[in-house]
Amino acid sequence: MKVKFKEVKSQKIKDSFLEALKAYDDLHVHSITLYQKRVKSSTMQAQPIINLSNILSGVKKYRIKLGVFVSSSDTLKVEDVPQEVMKGWFAHELGHLVDYLSYSNLGMIKYGLKYVFSDSFKMKAEHEADYIAIERGFREEIIATKEWLLNHDLVDQGYKNKLNKYYLSIEQVELCNLNEIPFEPIIEK
Ligand SMILES: [Zn+2]
Repeated sequence: MKVKFKEVKSQKIKDSFLEALKAYDDLHVHSITLYQKRVKSSTMQAQPIINLSNILSGVKKYRIKLGVFVSSSDTLKVEDVPQEVMKGWFAHELGHLVDYLSYSNLGMIKYGLKYVFSDSFKMKAEHEADYIAIERGFREEIIATKEWLLNHDLVDQGYKNKLNKYYLSIEQVELCNLNEIPFEPIIEK
């Protein structure tokens, strides 16, 4: 794993991140930086790092930006979030990185624009990140993350509305379990 931590002080955050990353073998060859910083708009953001040297070479590098506080709260610290919730959160962000893997660096620029300007594209991208995390075995953690965020008094309503609009609902995640039932063909006589 090629992980760098920048400004991350909490051992709990580091451990949760590394624990989640273990399930993402296909990301281990790429350099990933977890960078903690006060951010306003959202608590976590998975971003490709694109510069002049890698736009043509195709080398893929990623950064996950992590807030110090959850959403717009100035009291609820990310490092105090329950570990299961934190893991679910990281599993979702790493899901984004897996989704990004199929795009070239140039393709990622287009992706970024579509994400900003198209609501339906944004919704598809957020659902995909959840589906990938569920596929990697984080179904319970994804549910825990959604339950925690949607029910926490200190998480602002605007953020909850965003979660309801763009992300899979808890019910949809629960239904994903049905996919694990082995497929049985019906043979007609
Ligand atoms: Zn996301």
